[in-house]
Amino acid sequence: MDSPHRSSVIIIGAGVSGLSAAKRLIENGVEDVVILEASDRIGGRIRKQEFGGVSVELGAGWIVGVGGEQLNPVWELAEKTNLRTCLSDYSNARFNIYDRSGNLIPSGVAADSYKKAVDSAIEELRKLEADGGDVSKVTEPPSTQKTPIELAIDFTLHDFEMAEVEPIATYKDFGGQEFLVADERGYEHLLYKMADDFLFTCEEKILDSRLSLNKKWKTEAIEKLDVMVYTKIFLKFPRKFWPCGPGKEFFIYAHERRGYYTFWQHMENAYPGSNILVVTLTNGESKRVEAQCDEETVKEAMGVLRDIFGPNIPEATDILVPRWWNNRFQRGSYSNYPIISNHRVVRDIKAPVGCIFFTGEHTSEKYSGYVHGAYLTGIDTANALLEEMGRQEERSSENKTSLSKPELALTSSLNLTQKDAVSNLKCDVPTQLYLGSKQPKLY
Ligand SMILES: Cc1cc2nc3c(=O)[nH]c(=O)nc-3n(C[C@H](O)[C@H](O)[C@H](O)COP(=O)(O)OP(=O)(O)OC[C@H]3O[C@@H](n4cnc5c(N)ncnc54)[C@H](O)[C@@H]3O)c2cc1C
Repeated sequence: MDSPHRSSVIIIGAGVSGLSAAKRLIENGVEDVVILEASDRIGGRIRKQEFGGVSVELGAGWIVGVGGEQLNPVWELAEKTNLRTCLSDYSNARFNIYDRSGNLIPSGVAADSYKKAVDSAIEELRKLEADGGDVSKVTEPPSTQKTPIELAIDFTLHDFEMAEVEPIATYKDFGGQEFLVADERGYEHLLYKMADDFLFTCEEKILDSRLSLNKKWKTEAIEKLDVMVYTKIFLKFPRKFWPCGPGKEFFIYAHERRGYYTFWQHMENAYPGSNILVVTLTNGESKRVEAQCDEETVKEAMGVLRDIFGPNIPEATDILVPRWWNNRFQRGSYSNYPIISNHRVVRDIKAPVGCIFFTGEHTSEKYSGYVHGAYLTGIDTANALLEEMGRQEERSSENKTSLSKPELALTSSLNLTQKDAVSNLKCDVPTQLYLGSKQPKLY
């Protein structure tokens, strides 16, 4: 009887990180790579969907960090594949703030509130640094003390990366511009192109005892990792009723409940004539809306739009609510390390457990949360793996013992690093396989 085939490398998850790792390994001569993907598609948190006659991005939408000294590798891929994108200018959003009666907050007032919020965030950060990064010592004033406009600005500042007070590595290294992907082929086109040479699929079952993981320090680090939920709700209308033109792509709604349908974007720059609005919710509001029916969500969103634009606007004809929190292979949108992060947590999240290596955006020290973070960690982890394989080969030729090939596995998703998924890993057998150049026998 044939002995069962064991692939040199098993990659779990065909998101951008898993795919960039696979590409790196295959380019470096590792021939029998298997990628196991739990869902019926590749891309993970890069995912397009047809909506209202155009292609919208449910997950990553922007290529963040363009125009700086270094070339963002994802931007490089986008240029190579002629991905259609458009520049997003967030800087005007703060001047398009509406109150509940539809009044546009005067720009002077908005600018003052914005400056106050930035100054106080900087002050808090300094305090935190002085306290050695102990978040428990920072006393946040209760949110009820804040006015709706202050809450709206606070939400915009803290729930969107564009206004972080620290110069973040992505902007510092790759530049401050952000380009929205507006291509019918979707952001995921980059991944299909990347995997063109080595990807083919096969539906089978696989069991591999090497995938068990039960190290306390690892699961503890995973438990400490905060995952942000970020939800873009798309609404289709029979006609536009919102202002368009320069400086009008984004607008903000000031409500007494923080994050209640605060941040809006029209899609006229991306797809002229599409008559689509996008509203972004995060964390608690995301979870609340994921749990309710879409009819309720339309009703709430229409209430907000009527506050802003008056009672005569047309009803939305369609809605799309992605549910990243309820997706058991994601359980959120991206990792959210505190501004002053605990290096030990990041180190433990990244560290291999025996022959199991970890990759994914959450393992990126500098660019966590982003597509380019995921892409670059895929390459880094593949490099670490190649080194380890080289060492093993050296050892085996020195000892002339018949060591088996390295038993290595990569995980590329946040979900996999969550406790329930990790402990169930062996049972959570994916049925869809993406295989490298040699097709292994499965058992
Ligand atoms: C709503 C939203 C908006 C975002 N906006 C942006 C943006 O504008 N710009 C930006 O740069 N980034 C953005 N991001 C973040 C970006 O999408 C991610 O950082 C990146 O795609 C993560 O890639 P990854 O390979 O690390 O993980 P993933 O893409 O999550 O890939 C992991 C893969 O593993 C699979 N998997 C999970 N569990 C198992 C299992 N048990 N067995 C087998 N397979 C499994 C999953 O199905 C998935 O395909 C956004 C994310 C979301 C959700």
